[in-house]
Amino acid sequence: MTPSNTQNRPEAGWKFDNTYARLPEAFYARLNPVPVREPKLVVFNEALAQALGLNPADLNSEEGAAIFAGNRLPEGAEPIAQAYAGHQFGYFTMLGDGRAILLGEQVTPQGERFDIQFKGSGKTPFSRNGDGRAALGPMLREYIISEALHALDIPTTRSLAVVTTGEPVFRETTLQGSILTRIAASHIRVGTFQYVAARGKPDELQTLADYTIQRHFPDLAGDENPYFALLGAVIKLQASLVARWLMVGFIHGVMNTDNMALGGETIDYGPCAFMDAYDPNTVFSSIDHNGRYAYGRQPQIAQWNLARFAETLLPLMHANQQEALTMANQAIAGFPDTFQHYWLAGMRAKLGLLNAEDDDGTLIKDLLDGMHKHGADFTNTFRDLSSGSLPEASVFQTPDFKQWFERWQARLKRQPDSKEAVRQCMKTHNPAVIARNHRVEEALAAAVERADLTVMEELLGVLSQPFQDPPEEAGYHLPPPPSAEPYRTFCGT
Ligand code: AMP
Ligand code: MG
Repeated sequence: MTPSNTQNRPEAGWKFDNTYARLPEAFYARLNPVPVREPKLVVFNEALAQALGLNPADLNSEEGAAIFAGNRLPEGAEPIAQAYAGHQFGYFTMLGDGRAILLGEQVTPQGERFDIQFKGSGKTPFSRNGDGRAALGPMLREYIISEALHALDIPTTRSLAVVTTGEPVFRETTLQGSILTRIAASHIRVGTFQYVAARGKPDELQTLADYTIQRHFPDLAGDENPYFALLGAVIKLQASLVARWLMVGFIHGVMNTDNMALGGETIDYGPCAFMDAYDPNTVFSSIDHNGRYAYGRQPQIAQWNLARFAETLLPLMHANQQEALTMANQAIAGFPDTFQHYWLAGMRAKLGLLNAEDDDGTLIKDLLDGMHKHGADFTNTFRDLSSGSLPEASVFQTPDFKQWFERWQARLKRQPDSKEAVRQCMKTHNPAVIARNHRVEEALAAAVERADLTVMEELLGVLSQPFQDPPEEAGYHLPPPPSAEPYRTFCGT
């Protein structure tokens, strides 16, 4: 069976362009998704469909299931698997879309362009030893957490649909096969540049760089050195992104260079998770034995990845490679300051500091140190502080916290803004709910083991408005019950 290229009904709203498929042949392989036995829609993101200019009523259907399973190609799609490389835990490897297919770019009625990509759609020339498939649990997990990040106003790839395939996938046990439809500003990664740079053809590298500038940073095209400007723009976006992760206790978990998107979106929801009790050394990924991608190491790792990106650009940045290296080193050395700028701005907002004082950094650090020492819940501590009075939680009853609270109150009094302005700022920067691991697991267990989607749907509803207090009795704000085993996450399953 091959996908039938039926001319879909125009009312579905597909409007594909395929600019990536017009780049040099070496950048991808052309192939269709491998059709599956019995496509069934499990979850469909109506709001996102609408934003993309798609017709939800037309796609939330059997027709939609066939499309999101890869059995029927939407009109205008030119499917490809993208080639890329990457440093995985510091080691360079040739990778590529081993289980993903890019259908093309949907152009919205507003003229925006988004990649439409399947994950789990069968083998490709880049599959190596993999089966090209994905299991239902991890695809629903990506759906939940990516949509949670989006609602927290953090740039991210998004999730349009999850289908089951009616075919088994074999991991440690037999699982239900599944395909996620991922939406992204693009899938150009640091690893894409590494792949092209490793081919050693300067014209290909320039083509990719020009394409990236056109697609994500069109204003830089006229710069006197657009490739150096590209490096600077990517550094800024990543510094801002990682700062935003830290603000909500998010741990990406596998910040390999192939999982860093140049458009500045969070990408690859394998082993990611939100931290409960504040500890900068928190690691959830079962394979991250040395804590390379721990919560507090994410800025350093971003800088390391950006240095790998800068290396690929050297031939374009200056005719004299020594000059190019000096420029790149300077740009990368500026990352900590750029990051610190975003981080401090974000933390000030979390504490309702509406102007800047020199000692703000110390005030913030002392709070975090105290939270670490007392094992305070990251999300709830900040949300509790948003109430304005000394919170009832037990950590706040300790002498060091009480003293800190007085310092903070004194600091707030030194700014001209009203209590209401402070409260408003804090309530919109400190979420009441995050995608807590135990709640995500509970939703996945219901969906996967009992085909009960109601738990996930309720969770998705709450996570879509994270700055609103959900009903107290539903307990979405509660940290997990104490457990003997630490929470563990897994890559690429
Ligand atoms: P990730 O851990 O998701 O960043 O994936 C790393 C690489 O492994 C990418 O090239 C993926 O396409 C590939 N990969 C992950 N799972 C599979 C699979 N089941 N079959 C084929 N390739 C895979
Ligand atoms: Mg990846």
